[in-house]
Amino acid sequence: MTWYLVSFVLVFFLHDTYFYWTHRLMHTKKLFPYFHRVHHLSHKPSPMAALAFHPLEAMVEVFLFLLIPIFLPVHFSVIVLFTFFSLFMNVYGHLGFNLFSIERQKKFPLNLLSHSTNHSWHHQYHRGNYGFYLQFWDRMMKTWKGELKEIDHNSSVN
Ligand SMILES: [Zn+2]
Ligand SMILES: [Zn+2]
Repeated sequence: MTWYLVSFVLVFFLHDTYFYWTHRLMHTKKLFPYFHRVHHLSHKPSPMAALAFHPLEAMVEVFLFLLIPIFLPVHFSVIVLFTFFSLFMNVYGHLGFNLFSIERQKKFPLNLLSHSTNHSWHHQYHRGNYGFYLQFWDRMMKTWKGELKEIDHNSSVN
């Protein structure tokens, strides 16, 4: 049972790291048009944007979950449970509004997470806040841009 929980947490950190770096890579000029442009057609994200991406980007995302069972003895159900957890967090990231007040987001443990307004910033400005679950890699790599207080539904971003 201990390994079951530890492997879930390991998959969580592995996916957070993998997502940050592949996401940044897909924002390079050469890769963006082929992999990530479709997802960024959602300038003001909604939960539907969570699954709006190009098949090539989907292949990048699935690749990690093909590698993990080769290198880590994780139970199949860990991958299945993690997939639901990840989808839940993906929808949360694309809500487009604050679920928690800005003040609560600044307090532990919410101050560790990347929230929907942080990801909305990313969709609106196409830079910064590349992380999925955690702020860790954005803060480490100085790509953290904080959050939008509210989503500007009238602005247009090209
Ligand atoms: Zn992006
Ligand atoms: Zn997004």
